[in-house]
Amino acid sequence: MRVFNFSAGPAVLPEPVLQKAAAEMLDWHGSGMSVMEMSHRGKEFISIAEKVEADLRALLAIPTHYKVLFLQGGAIADNALVPMNLLRGRSVADYVNTGEWSKKSIKEAGKYCAVNVAASSEDKKFTYVPAQDTWKLSSDAAYVHVCTNETIGGLEYQWTPDTGELPLVADMSSHILSRVIEVSKYGVIYAGAQKNAGSAGLTLVIVRDDLLDCALPITPSVFHWKEQSAAESMLNTPATYAIYIAGLVFEWLQAQGGIAAIERRNIAKAQLLYDYLDHTQFYANGVRKEDRSRMNVVFRLSDETLDEAFLKGAKERGMVQLKGHRAVGGMRASIYNAMPVEGVRALVEYMQDFEQRNG
Ligand SMILES: *Cc1c(COP(=O)(O)O)cnc(C)c1O
Repeated sequence: MRVFNFSAGPAVLPEPVLQKAAAEMLDWHGSGMSVMEMSHRGKEFISIAEKVEADLRALLAIPTHYKVLFLQGGAIADNALVPMNLLRGRSVADYVNTGEWSKKSIKEAGKYCAVNVAASSEDKKFTYVPAQDTWKLSSDAAYVHVCTNETIGGLEYQWTPDTGELPLVADMSSHILSRVIEVSKYGVIYAGAQKNAGSAGLTLVIVRDDLLDCALPITPSVFHWKEQSAAESMLNTPATYAIYIAGLVFEWLQAQGGIAAIERRNIAKAQLLYDYLDHTQFYANGVRKEDRSRMNVVFRLSDETLDEAFLKGAKERGMVQLKGHRAVGGMRASIYNAMPVEGVRALVEYMQDFEQRNG
């Protein structure tokens, strides 16, 4: 029996995707082999990879002057690869600090350049996104880095920063494909696939053409965006199976009506949870309303001694992975694209019921 899996990542996948992968496991389209067994340079896999890229481009309306790379190492590798690939002789980069993932990016970038924290919401425990007019950007920065959805703190940009001439770089790991974005506002977008785009092992990198060729000479070739772009992301053996799974997720997204349609569903799903949280004293969400994440809904029980009982009861009802990140505690319901509205409804019902029994 399948559970409602609220894990922050790796996370729930659409059931039709898993079924299709299962059906094609032993014999992909009459090839007599699994995608896992295919040469990445064979015509079968090349046809898969080309369609995956075309579908991603269509879903996100990625302009032609952007390259799409299918790399490895995850977003945490990109914390180093962004400065390596983008410093282009400059010695400072601007970062906006909105939580745990921003902090990791800042720390790693500090190995490669001076980091100017242009704005931070640490003063209020990362419960808001600092307004753009408070950002103190440096004129000589190589780029401006933001984390547009803080997976741990449950904070999301509901607006797109405007950094003028400075390239805007975004870690979108936990909300890419969940909402319509304007790619042309960004210089670089990167995301691990295991939240909204499939399985772990694949990192999506979307780079504007003019930013491709600025890497430090020491940048490893497999992480050198220009070299990987020239090699169609096959300078090394790419994460072939993860690319295939991402492709199935993209086809599923198209069948749902595309990103605008899934965004409407995501708004409705998040609303169900936040509406309830706003009408109870038993649970609380401390994030400023305008900045709340649609993907990762964090909440606390007013009486923390009930945490274990809450999690145990949820599990008995087939709802798992609701425990908040160890860095912040509390609870977290990650409700990515693939979480059906039924799962969110079941969670709210359970929360109400638990409140009635313990409140
Ligand atoms: C999950 C996550 C990461 C880490 O990704 P890895 O694949 O473990 O490298 C980084 N940033 C954000 C915003 C995330 O949600």
